[in-house]
Amino acid sequence: MKIKQIRPEYVEYIPERLEEGALYISERYRTAVHKCCCGCGQEVVTPLSPAEWSVRRNGNQVSLWPSIGNWSYPCRSHYVIRDNYVLEAKAMTDRQIQQVKVNDRADKAAQIRRTNHANEMAALAPKPSAQITSLQEWQPRMSWLQHLIHWWKSL
Ligand SMILES: [Zn+2]
Repeated sequence: MKIKQIRPEYVEYIPERLEEGALYISERYRTAVHKCCCGCGQEVVTPLSPAEWSVRRNGNQVSLWPSIGNWSYPCRSHYVIRDNYVLEAKAMTDRQIQQVKVNDRADKAAQIRRTNHANEMAALAPKPSAQITSLQEWQPRMSWLQHLIHWWKSL
């Protein structure tokens, strides 16, 4: 690994030109970007979400979890960023890479299902007052109709 240590740069927007050895973290866009620590110069984008990566701050130190596996780049580097240190992880075989990709997809699918479920629950939750007002408008007409029905039945 050419880059053994990384420094966190907290930014709003990810700059166009990335410096080697910097991990740009945009909390606003929930993304971290850095140049591959093997030194190949590829830009590695790690979206920050429960199903993807998470950043842990510890003073000036930063950790990124899970590991970064650049399987789609020629270098195929695999490393972990922990407390600003770049720790080389085991190179993976093609078979393991396939497995990780499958797991990633499964994680993502589960995450999407959870989100959809949350949205459904939100849709079922009581609506704000606008709806209630229209219900109240609707009710007198209903009782008027009931009166009519009563009257009709009494005939
Ligand atoms: Zn690389």
